[in-house]
Amino acid sequence: MKIPLLTALLLLTACARQAHSEDPQATALREKLKAIPMSEKVNFTNEEWKKILTPEQYHVLRQAGTEKPYANEYCDTYEKGTYVCAACGYPLFDSSTKFACGTGWPAFFQPSLKDHIRTSTDTSFGMVREAVTCARCGSHLGHVFDDGPEPTHLRYCMNSAALKLVKAEKK
Ligand code: FE
Repeated sequence: MKIPLLTALLLLTACARQAHSEDPQATALREKLKAIPMSEKVNFTNEEWKKILTPEQYHVLRQAGTEKPYANEYCDTYEKGTYVCAACGYPLFDSSTKFACGTGWPAFFQPSLKDHIRTSTDTSFGMVREAVTCARCGSHLGHVFDDGPEPTHLRYCMNSAALKLVKAEKK
C-alpha cells in the first residue's frame, strides 16, 4: 500500500508544480483579456494569442486551420448551454441550434446573435467557401454552408477547438 500512496503524492506534487509554472506573461495576458468588457473588441497580436491558447486552438483560431473530423470535443455533444469563442469568450452559438449533420464537426443553424460573427469569402484549397470569424477578436471559427436545416437552411460548420461550451446551470 505504501508505494501507490507515495506515487499518488508525487503525482499530486508534480501537478501542483505544473499549475503554478505558467509563464507570467500568459497569466498577465489572461488577466488583461478578462478585464476587457464583452462589448469591446479584443486586439491581441498572434504572439500574444500563442501564449494563452493551446497549439490546436492556435492553429484553428489564428491560422484558420481545420481540426480532424469526429475526433473533436463537441462533434456529438448535445448538452445545454452556450458555445463561446475559445479565444475571447464571446457568446457565439446556443446549444438549441446545434444539429447532427454527420460531417464530424459541430454544426449550428444560426449564431446566437448575428452580429457576434463575421463572414468572408475564403478561396483556399481551390474551393469557394464562406469563412466565419468571431466578431469580437477576429479568430477563425469555421465555415458556413447553405445546406442546413430549417428555419435558416444554413449550416455553421465549426471547429470544436474554436469553441468552449459553457453549460447551462441545471435547475
Ligand atoms: Fe473571439
